[in-house]
Amino acid sequence: MATKLLLTFAICRLIVTVGLTLDPTDLLRLGDDGGQLSVDPSDVDSASSDFGMLNRAEPLAVLHPSTAEDVARLVKAAYATARGFAVSARGHGHSINGQAQTNNGVVIQMSGSRGGRRRVGPSPPLIVEKERYVDVWGGELWIDVLRSTLKHGLAPKSWTDYLYLSVGGTLSNAGISGQAFNHGPQISNVHELDVVTGKGDILTCSEEENTELFHAVLGGLGQFGIITRARISLEPAPQRVRWIRVLYSNFTAFTGDQEYLISLHGQPSSQKFDYVEGFVIVDEGLINNWRSSFFSPRNPVKISSLNGSNNGGVLYCLEITKNYDESTADTVDQEVETLLKKLNFIQTSVFTTDLLYVDFLDRVHKAELKLRSKGLWEVPHPWLNLFVPKSRMADFDKGVFKGILGNKTSGPILIYPMNKNKWDPRSSVVTPDEDVFYLVALLRSALDTGEDIHTLEYLSNQNRQILRFCVDAGIKVKQYLPHYTTQEEWMDHFGDKWGRFHHRKLEFDPRNILATGQRIFKRSL
Ligand code: FAD
Repeated sequence: MATKLLLTFAICRLIVTVGLTLDPTDLLRLGDDGGQLSVDPSDVDSASSDFGMLNRAEPLAVLHPSTAEDVARLVKAAYATARGFAVSARGHGHSINGQAQTNNGVVIQMSGSRGGRRRVGPSPPLIVEKERYVDVWGGELWIDVLRSTLKHGLAPKSWTDYLYLSVGGTLSNAGISGQAFNHGPQISNVHELDVVTGKGDILTCSEEENTELFHAVLGGLGQFGIITRARISLEPAPQRVRWIRVLYSNFTAFTGDQEYLISLHGQPSSQKFDYVEGFVIVDEGLINNWRSSFFSPRNPVKISSLNGSNNGGVLYCLEITKNYDESTADTVDQEVETLLKKLNFIQTSVFTTDLLYVDFLDRVHKAELKLRSKGLWEVPHPWLNLFVPKSRMADFDKGVFKGILGNKTSGPILIYPMNKNKWDPRSSVVTPDEDVFYLVALLRSALDTGEDIHTLEYLSNQNRQILRFCVDAGIKVKQYLPHYTTQEEWMDHFGDKWGRFHHRKLEFDPRNILATGQRIFKRSL
């Protein structure tokens, strides 16, 4: 009874605020399967912010869907309403710049439990062992996908570094980590999707069916539909991981080795690493920080003790792994040694650890818990993620790592290359126009330490300087997890792909209802 009253209140609010013209009884049916439209202040509050903590926008209501039909009913109502209202799917809200927010509509909370209760409704991951795939709800977190598939000895092939992100959220961007050189991003490992379009239709799409929608949605920044189901490719799950870090003081040697290692993607698995990443160490404080706690406490590292001290203090860390199980345990040492012999790192700087596959994949969560306990997780995150063409990495190193950043960074800086041929050009995501490009991720936190260099203003200004430097130096970077505020900037971002992106929008979300927090298209009221 109380639920129905709240639902009626939420619908009344929509009628008054946006002039909902649809028969409200259709929306009242939202509650039938356990889904719920809510105006509870705690729901509205959590849907108003995100991990970045840089923007706030309050929705009129929050929908906790039970089924794809709940999602479709709401979108249909938005589409049919005279003035319309925006609908934003929200996964785990781990965006930086309000991409899953809306202040003139409804947020659909796709992920997680509510008030500590597990959401009723959307079915748990369904694994088909024989064909090696899993069907998952779009709001499922990757950590839960992993836990489910491991019970069958299987696992997805391509990951993000952090697993408390939703399937729909990462597939709307790309989903990358150190496996991307080999398997491509997560969007290259999807067989099929169920999508609720901006007209409220539920469509299944794949390489064979509704192909244009399939490619539009992958990397589509939530613009063309809400992913309610994804069919993800699986492989036999390795049991353990040999995790290795080696250091470089010479940037050319570092990138040369990274590029060599990713060029091995076509080789048998015994002759390549399974994961290739890296990071830049600009200041001593960083080397034992949250992403690199690996080195401590057993292996504390002092930059000055390594050859890096004569390189403006900048060191580069290559991070690689080799997966193995009982059948390959005898050969893993030999395989690692053979590969390491071909690399040019500082010979005294090999750090190795060995752990369960699941613990490796879930490594950043440990760091999260540590930061949470110190009150350092829920702080503003002015993150900047760039795809940089391989040919300009040396200029980027000189201008940014050894230039703009000075010797303090306020957070990890990841750097690793990927092979463009593992990215489907038909997807909506944009990458630089070279066969190999790098992710450079400046993952910084603004802290209230009293020092200027840790403030949000300082870090945001530095981000702007970095982007300006790239323009001035003619380095054709593309933002990953892009953030722009004008359509001109978006057109520039998409370049040749803008025409197709725009056309897809007209076809699948003609009233600009979906994911308005991306600020790509203006809503026509
Ligand atoms: P949200 O922030 O909730 O949503 C993001 C966008 O996707 C919004 O526009 C939203 O409307 C849309 N959306 C959400 N769900 C759906 C859906 N079901 N259907 C359609 N659209 C939808 N990314 C990487 O690639 N690799 C990494 O290693 C990585 N590590 C990260 C570590 C941390 C700590 C954080 C905070 C982020 C990281 N990211 C990484 C970025 C992350 O992939 C994106 O921010 C992603 O969007 C987060 O997923 P989410 O579920 O929180 O999405």
